[in-house]
Amino acid sequence: MSGAASPIRSTESPRNTIVAIDGPAGAGKSTLARHLARHFGLLNLETGAMYRAFALKALRAGIPLDDSRTLERLTAETTIRLEPGDEENRVLLDGEDVTGFLRNPSITDAASRVSVFPAIRSWMVGLQQKLGARGGIVMEGRDIGTVVFPHARVKIFLDAAPEVRGQRRFEQLGQSGSDVTTTAEMASPGDNSPSPAREEILRELYARDERDRNRADSPLRPAPDAVLLDSTAMSLEEAVRAAIAIVAAKLAAP
Ligand code: C5P
Repeated sequence: MSGAASPIRSTESPRNTIVAIDGPAGAGKSTLARHLARHFGLLNLETGAMYRAFALKALRAGIPLDDSRTLERLTAETTIRLEPGDEENRVLLDGEDVTGFLRNPSITDAASRVSVFPAIRSWMVGLQQKLGARGGIVMEGRDIGTVVFPHARVKIFLDAAPEVRGQRRFEQLGQSGSDVTTTAEMASPGDNSPSPAREEILRELYARDERDRNRADSPLRPAPDAVLLDSTAMSLEEAVRAAIAIVAAKLAAP
């Protein structure tokens, strides 16, 4: 829960506020972040999209996802920009809008693999700190409250039971055509592959959880001063209302 250790600066105006949202896949972070940003007039920045964009570049370049040295070299010739939009961020990889590719399951898996490497993480963290330096943002990811912005004014750790997260992810993927395209389709869009089986989606989610929670560098865990929000038994509206109340209370605090 929130603690006295939170370095709240009374001179900080809400417009400079940083709201950090962390939590595992399928907990509803993106939706929550989007609603919070809209409600409080902040920019919404999804850091997962940045890891996904880098993973896409690595896959396109044919770099083995365990080749940390080559991946590290790749960072030096990569630019990733997030452009906040109403629904989601537009992601520019070396100037190319790759937003439509990033929810592909092979990219999801690759993002979680490349994100274990400290050199990749510290490069990403630097980019994210620059993006959020002026505040006025909701930033969502796995390590925002612990590493990227440890002094964020508001930190929420959004969680839900694994079965519930799995089910949500399954429903979400079913609604989005771009989510179920294969890597081959990225080269030749238009090929309609069948949706991955539910079991496969759940297996992928649990594997990603394991990797995110157990990596040596910046494992997924709540910051000591994060407010824990468990959305297992909540509807989306309830979770959003609860999060708005958390942020409002923090902003009202001296
Ligand atoms: O949030 P999203 O599901 O888009 O993130 C994709 C993957 O990127 C995660 O499974 C995680 O491995 C990695 N990631 C991370 N740190 C972040 C955001 C995402 O390691 N701040």
